[in-house]
Amino acid sequence: MLNSNRSGRRAKRLIKSGLDLLFPPACPFCGKKSNDRTGLCLDCGAKYFHERQMSCPRCGQTVEFCNCDCDFPHISRTTVGGKTHMSLTFYTGSGNAEAAGRVTEQMILSLKNNGHHAKFFADELSDTLFHLFEHSEYTLDEWILTYPPRSLHNYLKYGVDQSEEVTRHMAKNLGIPCRKTLVKEAGGEQKTLSSEERMVNAEETLLPRKHAIVRGGKYLLFDDIITSGATVMAAANLLYANGAAEVFPVSIARTLPKEPR
Ligand SMILES: [Zn+2]
Ligand SMILES: [Zn+2]
Repeated sequence: MLNSNRSGRRAKRLIKSGLDLLFPPACPFCGKKSNDRTGLCLDCGAKYFHERQMSCPRCGQTVEFCNCDCDFPHISRTTVGGKTHMSLTFYTGSGNAEAAGRVTEQMILSLKNNGHHAKFFADELSDTLFHLFEHSEYTLDEWILTYPPRSLHNYLKYGVDQSEEVTRHMAKNLGIPCRKTLVKEAGGEQKTLSSEERMVNAEETLLPRKHAIVRGGKYLLFDDIITSGATVMAAANLLYANGAAEVFPVSIARTLPKEPR
């Protein structure tokens, strides 16, 4: 049984590498041959790693250390490895044309619209978290992954809950559980709202799932992008209000702070 499984897998791998030779997987941005880890070609892969190093126009820090324009770090009382409460990999622009040309911008868009690159982003964040926890007083296996889900309406519209996809891959990487602790009622999409409207919308439409939040639990709270911080704040407040001991927000990207005038 084991043997036939193994030879089945080998056959599948052979077929796949044969197909890759005949029809090399294309980079989603430029159509050139992609390398297998990122799904990007070498050029776009290099651009991605360059974009990861982008620094804040105000304080010059990379995203993990910058606190400009953000009123959300206080939601988390957790300090991991002496860092400011969040795990992020890079900045995302604020919707201008220059930002639209970025590989990371395109990847996040196709994550939101189609659930693409979920494993890639999960791998990136898992690496960051492993590294953070290695130098902290915590051990990763005390933590539970969770996320503010998409509303049923948006789940049906896009056919995917991108946060759930990323969280599931992260749970596998990190060897910790992933739990659905929150539900999202139909409300406006956050992206069409002003920041005050976002806060009200997030608070009104996010609810705790009955008996799903563990008293004294430590939560890694994943949200794909932090724009105003409203969703992550509302979710963290609900977790704390229902007995969570710690909430550590984990995000792929944060909107770049505006340059000082
Ligand atoms: Zn490319
Ligand atoms: Zn800054």
